[in-house]
Amino acid sequence: MTAKASPYRHQRLIFDADNTLFDFDQAEAHALVSTLRHFAMPTPEGLIDHYRQMNVALWQQLDAKQIGIAELKQRRAESVFDFVGAAHTDHETFSVQYLDALAEQQCLLAAVKETLAALSAHCEMAIITNGLARVQKPRFANSEIQHHFGALVISEELGVAKPEPEIFEHTCDLMGWSDPAQVLMVGDNYRCDIQGAADFGMQTCWFNLRQIPHSHQDHNHEIHHFGQLLDVLRV
Ligand SMILES: [Mg+2]
Repeated sequence: MTAKASPYRHQRLIFDADNTLFDFDQAEAHALVSTLRHFAMPTPEGLIDHYRQMNVALWQQLDAKQIGIAELKQRRAESVFDFVGAAHTDHETFSVQYLDALAEQQCLLAAVKETLAALSAHCEMAIITNGLARVQKPRFANSEIQHHFGALVISEELGVAKPEPEIFEHTCDLMGWSDPAQVLMVGDNYRCDIQGAADFGMQTCWFNLRQIPHSHQDHNHEIHHFGQLLDVLRV
């Protein structure tokens, strides 16, 4: 009796976590408001937009190695204190409270749970995230999708982040995958997820969840909704 052929063109998949599997924007907003309430600070109008713009800029500086993670956390907290009009006190306690609130947020993006369940019968799957270990580990451990994955690789623990080739290589080693060309990387960040994986020789599926117009050409597939991944993979 022969094994049933897989209905999918790739059986080795790597996913980014934030804004690929998990709804990071929603998680971030909930965590920020709950943290400010915890410290009896106000949540003025425009706070979330301010926070996102500032946070994206800081992560870009971190990506460019202009600042470290400790400075990112400090400047992020201080920017929030300034915006809400609170004194600059104890940014470390604030950051810990915020990260723990973020770790509790389990919001998956639409169709993630069903799609992963459909794939898991035929595919080996891993996650690579450039997020923080304090957030990613408990959130992943408590999530309803964790049993589908053979590895969770966190850049902060490895000391190397996407798009560096070492983090893709390390993940393949962990999973026992010898040929990157057989692996499909799925992620929302074009530079870190898609170009990083393509440079390492992987196939790529860009989750362009905001449907931004573009002239990118380094990806093999593009989806706008997580459920479309099944169409991409179906032979
Ligand atoms: Mg992402």
